Amino acid sequence: MLEVDSLEKRYKTGDMALRGISFTVAKGQVVGLIGPSGAGKSSLIRCINRLVEPTGGAIRLNGLDLTKLSGGNLRQARRRIGMIFQEYALVERLTVMENVLSGRLGYVAFWRSFFRRFPQTDVDKAFQLLDRVGLQDHVDKRADALSGGQRQRVGIARALEQDPELLLVDEPTASLDPKTSRQIMRLICEVCRERDLPAIINIHDVVLAQMFVDRIIGLRAGAVVFDGPPTDLTDTA
Ligand code: ADP
Ligand code: ADP
Repeated sequence: MLEVDSLEKRYKTGDMALRGISFTVAKGQVVGLIGPSGAGKSSLIRCINRLVEPTGGAIRLNGLDLTKLSGGNLRQARRRIGMIFQEYALVERLTVMENVLSGRLGYVAFWRSFFRRFPQTDVDKAFQLLDRVGLQDHVDKRADALSGGQRQRVGIARALEQDPELLLVDEPTASLDPKTSRQIMRLICEVCRERDLPAIINIHDVVLAQMFVDRIIGLRAGAVVFDGPPTDLTDTA
């Protein structure tokens, strides 16, 4: 479970990006995060994975307060959070399989292991994930030979490879056509429910969010202005 408790972020410029935000996300629940540009969506995501330092409040992931960590402890805690990005962030020259295997290790450790060969259990697990996301016939293709939808499927498999306790997803469909966007959103939501994984998806397409997520949190000017099921969201929210 993820607990965000009175989270505050004031940048050095004085901008108050988050003005004391609180919510919890249960296991297996998929939250769509919506709001106009400048509302604080990226700041929230970045505070949770600690790419930026919160200036107040707490973020607990299964009881562990992420705001109190630094150094090695922080790096370890970050591995408990799977990330999926808008631009996929694949290593173009690596194969689909290699991209998934590199997710957990980071790039440098990946090459070290590459030359010592990966344990068969890691390869088997990666293959199972690639099968789940529908890429079983593409494992040996290089990333730069894939379509946008296939790339995002690799991104999903890579995020799951480390058995995360939370999934953070940043505009996963912004570079995809409408049909592929729906397939990718459906897949992300399905795998979260299968694995009992809580997820927050930063998504500007409200209609797409409403189709698939369990709950919507609306931000405006650093505050939560809506929190409820997609069906309760009206034009005025
Ligand atoms: P969103 O993702 O919803 O567009 P952001 O989290 O990017 O919103 O921005 C929220 C507020 O914080 C905005 O006022 C923005 O100008 C400010 N902000 C974001 N990043 C920084 C930064 N690195 N330094 C200073 N202010 C920032
Ligand atoms: P090609 O497209 O002909 O395979 P590349 O320059 O893309 O040529 O890569 C050559 C090989 O070098 C790759 O197959 C890969 O195994 C290896 N390689 C690529 N990048 C790195 C890297 N950063 N560190 C170590 N080996 C790499």
